[in-house]
Amino acid sequence: MIHKFDALILGAGAAGLLCAIEAGKRGRRVAVLERAERIGKKILISGGGRCNFTNLHCRPENFISANEHFAKSALARYTPADFIALVEKHRIPYHEKTLGQLFCDRTAEDITNMLEAECRGAGVQIFLNCRVHEVQRTTQFIVRTEAAEFLSSILVVATGGLSIPKMGATAFGYDLARQLGLNIVTTKPGLVPFLLGGKDYKLYSDLAGVSAEVIASANHHAFREKMLITHRGLSGPAILQISSYWDKGQSIQIDLAPRREIAPAIRAAKVRNITAARAAFQGILPKRFAERWLEAHAPPNWTNDSLAQLEKHAHEWVLTPAGTEGYEKAEVTAGGVDTEELSSKTMETKKVRGLFFIGEVVDVTGHLGGFNFQWAWASGAAAGRSL
Ligand SMILES: Cc1cc2nc3c(=O)[nH]c(=O)nc-3n(C[C@H](O)[C@H](O)[C@H](O)COP(=O)(O)OP(=O)(O)OC[C@H]3O[C@@H](n4cnc5c(N)ncnc54)[C@H](O)[C@@H]3O)c2cc1C
Repeated sequence: MIHKFDALILGAGAAGLLCAIEAGKRGRRVAVLERAERIGKKILISGGGRCNFTNLHCRPENFISANEHFAKSALARYTPADFIALVEKHRIPYHEKTLGQLFCDRTAEDITNMLEAECRGAGVQIFLNCRVHEVQRTTQFIVRTEAAEFLSSILVVATGGLSIPKMGATAFGYDLARQLGLNIVTTKPGLVPFLLGGKDYKLYSDLAGVSAEVIASANHHAFREKMLITHRGLSGPAILQISSYWDKGQSIQIDLAPRREIAPAIRAAKVRNITAARAAFQGILPKRFAERWLEAHAPPNWTNDSLAQLEKHAHEWVLTPAGTEGYEKAEVTAGGVDTEELSSKTMETKKVRGLFFIGEVVDVTGHLGGFNFQWAWASGAAAGRSL
């Protein structure tokens, strides 16, 4: 059986659905092919089930890409306000949690229901349980699934990244890009917890659950947020954020006492000793973590020089993660289809006319906090409006 459409969109995730809505509204006959049994599975699990669907403070600086300018155009033409208008049109209650992050009051299903309704309104046809296994390009794109063949002169690839393979993430989009001669910026897990190894693992892993506000930095980027100790290493927003900038083998730096001084309290104590140091650190860090960290970093003596060293060390604690928890736990895939291959206005590839890549499969990765969905909406809209 052969189905003909004006545009075929592979993947009914955030990017594919927004693209389909925009193209459908322009009168295009659009089909979305989705391998899963329902649309937007990642939307449903996102933000702890409440979907952090955008961020009020979205700026180009919140995105990582080999070309830092690439995302600007799409982000400027589809803003958080545009998506909020859609959410409000559907009377979905939402709230700002922190730092401009908008979440549904009820569940993420409000967002998938909204997208489904918009698709229906725009006449978009969604084919579920429809895994694309082959794409061939003649004068048109022929897309093959187990049950049928689809034909179109426009193909939009919105198949997402590699994170959470348990949910069906595959390398399909990257493989297709390679097959069609496009360059891929090396992919790696992003927004992912770190693993600790050796003595660091032995020292801290039994403190799992303990958290502290820190400044975590790597590769000239720093985030002041919570760090969480886990059974296997480190997590929490500060760590997830810098993980996207980290490469294997590199060290990270942690300021355990942002904008605070520890040494003065030790100097002011009646006796300068480990008890005074513990008390000073416990004023800033959770008790067990303070004790454990001091066990490993106690100065050789309590001279002013040693205290200055201790202070420095607490603000510049250097750790070398043994690795990350990988795609199984990563919220996103960093890297992807090289933006040099794409028009920043439409997301169409420069080499293959009628072929578009949008969403996470592209080498644009957002910070934690609703930015990845904003990129999915914005890149989807950019493509959809040009079809
Ligand atoms: C646990 C978790 C929580 C997250 N929370 C947030 C959050 O709160 N806020 C935020 O901004 N971001 C969050 N993210 C990131 C966000 O979910 C993604 O960046 C976003 O979903 C990417 O959208 P996409 O449309 O590009 O890809 P996806 O949403 O991954 O959609 C791709 C779709 O393509 C389908 N597909 C793949 N291969 C094929 C094939 N061969 N044939 C047919 N269909 C195929 C997949 O089944 C999938 O439905 C979270 C991610 C995870 C893993």
